[in-house]
Amino acid sequence: MNSAEFRRHGHQVVDWIATYLEEAEKYPVMSRNQPGDTLRLLPEEPPAEGESMQRILEDFERDILPGVTHWNHPRFFAYFPANNSGPSILGEMLSAGLGVNAMSWQTSPAATELEQRVMDWLKILLDLPTAWHGVIQDTASTATLVALLCAREKATDFAANTAGPAAMATGGALRIYTSTEAHSSVTKGAKIAGFGSENVVRVPTDKDHAMDPEALAAHIAADLDGGLRPCCVVATVGTTGSTAIDPVPAISEIAERHGLWLHVDAALAGSAAILPQMRWILAGCERADSFVFNPHKWLFTNFDCSAFYVRDAAHLEQTLTINPEYLRTDRDQEVHNYRDWGIQLGRRFRALKLWFVLRSYGVAGLREKVAEHLALAQKFAAWVDENPRWERLAPVPLNTICFRWRPEGVDDEEQLDTRNKDLMDRVNARGEIFLTHTKLAGKFTLRLAVGQTTTRMEHVEQAWRALNEVAVV
Ligand code: PLP
Repeated sequence: MNSAEFRRHGHQVVDWIATYLEEAEKYPVMSRNQPGDTLRLLPEEPPAEGESMQRILEDFERDILPGVTHWNHPRFFAYFPANNSGPSILGEMLSAGLGVNAMSWQTSPAATELEQRVMDWLKILLDLPTAWHGVIQDTASTATLVALLCAREKATDFAANTAGPAAMATGGALRIYTSTEAHSSVTKGAKIAGFGSENVVRVPTDKDHAMDPEALAAHIAADLDGGLRPCCVVATVGTTGSTAIDPVPAISEIAERHGLWLHVDAALAGSAAILPQMRWILAGCERADSFVFNPHKWLFTNFDCSAFYVRDAAHLEQTLTINPEYLRTDRDQEVHNYRDWGIQLGRRFRALKLWFVLRSYGVAGLREKVAEHLALAQKFAAWVDENPRWERLAPVPLNTICFRWRPEGVDDEEQLDTRNKDLMDRVNARGEIFLTHTKLAGKFTLRLAVGQTTTRMEHVEQAWRALNEVAVV
């Protein structure tokens, strides 16, 4: 592709994206593809000769787009949002254009220093401890894995890094404590980091689905009695199922008492703390050893971009450092080499899109959008509460409403589960909205998460209307 062609198609693609964002509502939110539909359209062999960009773009629209679920759609209420914005896309485009690998300071000083600066800005935005050190990871899953590795090395005095799993087994298995509602990435991280899934202790939750600190203390005590080695607590601020907020002040006290690493997973919820009136959700987090939240969920920064903070950067670096001759530079003592702050060597220039977002929205603009989502969630929760045909199944501290349909005369729990699953499938098949489910206290629970950049009152109203139309006996 020569420069003239790049320019022409570049303009074409930007126009396409702009129209797509304007018209996202015309698509069914969830792709209607069946398994194999996209695969069938794709040749089994790669093209022997190069093809024209025009043709590739046409095939993208015809063959790929129908298999896309539209996360930017204002009526996307599924999972948690992965929201996006014009400034973020522009930053991402420039990052692709520069093609920087931000593994070391020398490989692009601006990439490292911009990352330092935007991570400091986020600390101010969320009112996080000024002494914390930030780094952008790809996802919260990776950040949690890194936290578990740090915890492992703290508990073994870096012997696990050198001697491997044997060092983890000596003196009793290392244990991780997290609630029954914690994200699956904790168990995945425990598997990868060598703890083993059996050493993830799932601590029971209270009626609001938040970790019970007394149960945490009891589990730790039982493990100590049993010759096991408590190592790490992962608390969640904003659980995936219901956005429950673990009592971090009490949890941090227990963790401190036993010298355990405390990691806080605020993947979604962290963004809400940009609002002074929501700062309470992070109470106690200042005592954590590590903390993660995802600007790629609810801060208008396209996937992927996960903000990870540690209290002790030297410990993180010692956990992950590799220093082969071919990467050494004269500046290593003066600068951050972020390759030692995460798992992979090569790193994307993610700070650029975050910088674009923070500058373009400004603090006021970000607060306004997040506050609007919170208000819309409260509105929807009130509609559920006021209508006897519906039942709310969890508090709504943030953007997600957990609820179910209560068809008249149906009290049997199994039937309620079946009816609600069927309702969810039917409403999603209409293409108007997309929502997903979880199980809370064993009950099939519909979840409606508000957080797309363009979601407004009319879209939440449409969701409510659609659900009521489908909820017929
Ligand atoms: N933690 C929580 C509480 C989440 O809700 C999620 C995803 O929804 C994750 C972690 C995983 O996030 P990521 O996709 O960035 O790994």
